[in-house]
Amino acid sequence: MPTKSLNPDHPLSLLPVDASTECSHYSYPPVTNAKSQFPTIWEIASLVSGDSEAQAALELVQAKVNATVPDVRVKGTPNGDFCTTPKHPNLPTDIIDLPEPRSFGIGFDDGPNCSHNAFYEFLRENDQRATMFYIGSNVMDWPLQAQDAITDGHEICLHTWSHNYMTALTTEQAFAELWYTRKAITLVTGVTPLCWRPPFGDIDDRIRTIAQALNLTSILWQSDSDDWRINTGTPPVTSAQIDANYQNIINGVNNGTYNERGTIMLTHELNNFTMSEAIKWYPMLKAAFSKLVPIASAYNLTHPYAEGNISYPDFNGNSAAAASSSSTSGSASVTGPIATGSTKTGAVSVTSGSSTGSVKPVQTAAGATSAALRSTLTSMQVVGPAVGAVVGLSLLW
Ligand SMILES: [Zn+2]
Repeated sequence: MPTKSLNPDHPLSLLPVDASTECSHYSYPPVTNAKSQFPTIWEIASLVSGDSEAQAALELVQAKVNATVPDVRVKGTPNGDFCTTPKHPNLPTDIIDLPEPRSFGIGFDDGPNCSHNAFYEFLRENDQRATMFYIGSNVMDWPLQAQDAITDGHEICLHTWSHNYMTALTTEQAFAELWYTRKAITLVTGVTPLCWRPPFGDIDDRIRTIAQALNLTSILWQSDSDDWRINTGTPPVTSAQIDANYQNIINGVNNGTYNERGTIMLTHELNNFTMSEAIKWYPMLKAAFSKLVPIASAYNLTHPYAEGNISYPDFNGNSAAAASSSSTSGSASVTGPIATGSTKTGAVSVTSGSSTGSVKPVQTAAGATSAALRSTLTSMQVVGPAVGAVVGLSLLW
């Protein structure tokens, strides 16, 4: 769960956060009015009573689980399952790397964080977009911060409702963790993601089947910065160890490790330390890799949401590239290990990304950008526009 803890090893000047303002709770009517349609935040999700749409979807998912992975039991204990290769046939391999040599999939887990303003500003100043793996409960808590991602052209993927070990949950719970997170993101931002990342990297074939049935591509990582472990464990993980992990991935570029395929490292929007680390290492990552890109751009997914009319820059269209030394750059495969959902992109024709890499802000479900709304906020109440109808989409199979 996000915290405001700060690592004393790191200068606060990197993130001049006024927590008393940034993290003051506010009431946002589109969310407040819809709360009864969602599970309790930060509790393991289950079906909301009377939610017939979710009930029908769950029955289809359950049938798919029974047919595909009848032998995979609910683990029941949060030990985690960290293999990224399915054991059952016809299940897609998780995404853990990128098709383009020496490219870097930039993304941050556990947001939206109420104190991410300076961090997002840093990304904006660097014309850098990333993949944001959002926790449903955080989206409900900080809806305007979630809208920042869309305003700034980041890609949004799901990171479950309550951030628990998914293999330990029942099929209903695992389904609900994804279903309601996606519903929250759609409610708040107007986009319906087609990708997710399991907390702790905990995934097995039952969870893969549930995700696939919901048309969600599972995105994991190849290396872990361990930024989320700061000051935890025995002995505690130190910032020096985390720095070494960052340095290690840069060394990997220099020694040819990523000459065939690019890579993904796990980093976080979890707290000010993790964001400070990302800011500190950004110039070095950018100098080392040919390009830092969100996952959608890395795979040329120019329509990464269920709303097929929303376009996103492809690999070449995404800017913030260092001087590229890759002779094969520009030929990124579009046939990455993406789950094949029949309704993923619909019949909307694919257009290439903007040549400048600028991404048009998406009109949110609430009909306004967060920046404009935030300026009108008081700490207690904001009068927002009526939320639009939640997009009703058939996302099964
Ligand atoms: Zn996480």
